Amino acid sequence: MLRYEGTLYRPPSEGNSLILQATIGCSYNECAFCAMYRDKRFRVRPIAELESEITWARDEFGPSVRKVFLADGDALIAKKSFLLAVLHALRAAFPDLQRVSCYASPQALAVRSVEEMDELRRAGLTQYYLGIESGHDAVLAKLTKGVDAAEMVRVAQKAHAAGVRLSVMILLGAGGRALSREHALASADVVNQIQPRFVSTLVMTPVEGTPLGDWDARGEVEHLEPIELARELHTFLGALELEGSVFRSNHASNYLALGGSLPKDKAALLAALERVLARPERASFRPDWSRGL
Ligand code: SF4
Repeated sequence: MLRYEGTLYRPPSEGNSLILQATIGCSYNECAFCAMYRDKRFRVRPIAELESEITWARDEFGPSVRKVFLADGDALIAKKSFLLAVLHALRAAFPDLQRVSCYASPQALAVRSVEEMDELRRAGLTQYYLGIESGHDAVLAKLTKGVDAAEMVRVAQKAHAAGVRLSVMILLGAGGRALSREHALASADVVNQIQPRFVSTLVMTPVEGTPLGDWDARGEVEHLEPIELARELHTFLGALELEGSVFRSNHASNYLALGGSLPKDKAALLAALERVLARPERASFRPDWSRGL
């Protein structure tokens, strides 16, 4: 059977994927807002355990599995030989496999060479989820992301050069009120330089047990109102210059669900936000209780 340790996290778009916990926790585990793996010590699971889980999944679900997500936080940091062994076992078990994906921390992207990522991509690991969070250096430093904007761009471009599809996340509200506009513009600039296949926004939400949660308990975190977040999203979207990306702001943490293809739907998305900004009382912001957090 599949043995999962602790709470399992996956991106919303991996809802129908087979989740294989190739690594436990996150080797970085420092981001101030992130509660996902605080209780776990990072380790790579033995390949024999994973191979037997893949065999079990093949018997249980049949050979038609098409999508696999490698948990936990940054499976990409594991040794290349380990990842290749996992990918080969998946390919052998599931001949219709279309994609294997994982979270990629900037730290994992920094240590992986383009050649390694290319080899892993050819073995099936074709998509990474990268939390950019912000393109503003002061915001990245506050979030203890461990990289500045220039380094974020550099490591993401390595994945791009290896032909890996990137799905990136930006945290709305991460700059508070004072840096709202700068955070939006700098984040758009970083995303423009990376040209990811998918871009999504989440709303920064303090969680207990994290530094951000502690700051919030001391009243040090500004919570932007839904209308302020809509304005920030409008600034961010307006500054995006993407050549072929899918945009989503429909994660449970977002007050306003929006989505479309860029650049095709950019004008319509901006117009939808402008309608909200002009008549906020008529917007269908999801109330707090429905955000699933
Ligand atoms: S790199 Fe990702 S998983 Fe690790 S602490 Fe930061 S946000 Fe959490």
